[in-house]
Amino acid sequence: MRKISANTIFPVSRKAIKNGVVVVAEDGSILEIGHRTDYEDSTLEIYDGVLVPGFINTHCHLELSHMKGKVATGTSLIPFISNVVQFRDIPQAQIMAAIEAGDQAMYKAGIVAVGDISNKIDTALQKEKSAIRYATFVECFDFLQEDWAENTYEQYKAVYEAHSDRGGNKKSFVPHAPYSVSRNLFKLINQANPDDCTVSLHNQETLAENLFFLEKKGAFLDFYKNFDISLAAFQATGTSSLQYALTYMNPNCKTLLVHNTMSTKEDIKFAHQWNPNCYWATCPNANLYIENRLPNYQHILDTNAKVTLGTDSLTSNWQLSILEEMKTISKYQSYVSFEQLLQWATLNGAEALGYEQDLGSLEVGKTPGLLLLNLAEDLQMTADTKVKRLI
Ligand SMILES: [Zn+2]
Repeated sequence: MRKISANTIFPVSRKAIKNGVVVVAEDGSILEIGHRTDYEDSTLEIYDGVLVPGFINTHCHLELSHMKGKVATGTSLIPFISNVVQFRDIPQAQIMAAIEAGDQAMYKAGIVAVGDISNKIDTALQKEKSAIRYATFVECFDFLQEDWAENTYEQYKAVYEAHSDRGGNKKSFVPHAPYSVSRNLFKLINQANPDDCTVSLHNQETLAENLFFLEKKGAFLDFYKNFDISLAAFQATGTSSLQYALTYMNPNCKTLLVHNTMSTKEDIKFAHQWNPNCYWATCPNANLYIENRLPNYQHILDTNAKVTLGTDSLTSNWQLSILEEMKTISKYQSYVSFEQLLQWATLNGAEALGYEQDLGSLEVGKTPGLLLLNLAEDLQMTADTKVKRLI
């Protein structure tokens, strides 16, 4: 048993406690939360800094870890995707070593659970032996070709089956993005998933996405042309891309919408009416890397949307660290407080992935992990804020 104390503890599910103590059993489960005056000093481990629960990374592509530093920054989304597709024929041993290193880096950075997009089976083994919990999102896309849907689904079924759901891991089928999934494929995904799972969708990352659905115009037409795939059967829906996709998704599943750089308040309201269990994953460093812009978090705060944080992959990020995502938001939109960011980084993410029974907050009975952060005197993050994993 360990009795761990610091200047302030942030349980997340309740108010911060100055000079708080977290009593943790050998297996990492929390036995008690108290105050330093309740314990004899000699039995305490006392740290300078604040204690928070382990971080939840709700959007990653661990299988792309070998792409670190390979794709140029600031190109905007469509050239970015086209660049990524060029990187084939990487030796498998290199891919596997990068996956292992990515998993270990996340562990060290205090991440206890990951919502991980998988198009391949490469990460299955690492996820099984990892100390991190993985909710694997087997991501399907058929380039809007209705008659490819069945074959596409069969192909991803093999990826689904290769992933284990033992030891706290989970798996579900998910659509990639509105601009890449046909109506038939949405239906097959819905049929394959149980109602109580979480699904994710890359959402409104670029202006071109809405234009494509509203008027069948813009950069996605060239994108399809470059892949030599016909859009003859695709008609503009006259709605935003998000409204198109949600019409074909299952409103009983928790739905993790990822990026949302271009989402309006109307989009957010539409989504909440469709399903109150929508979560809005933001990956600020990836947004800066690819599009050189950030979402307007005030929009999201105004609508009471439940926000979560993600790192995206090392194709579009400099590291896999939720703390670095928090620091970026805090640097550019400093009206978002540390406590707000912490809620996004922990409990909201745990709820989105269905891990809130065990993770996301410091509460008796949970095994959320325990992290030490150094903050400034006013309890704000600085460029020097670092994370030390205590449990
Ligand atoms: Zn992504």
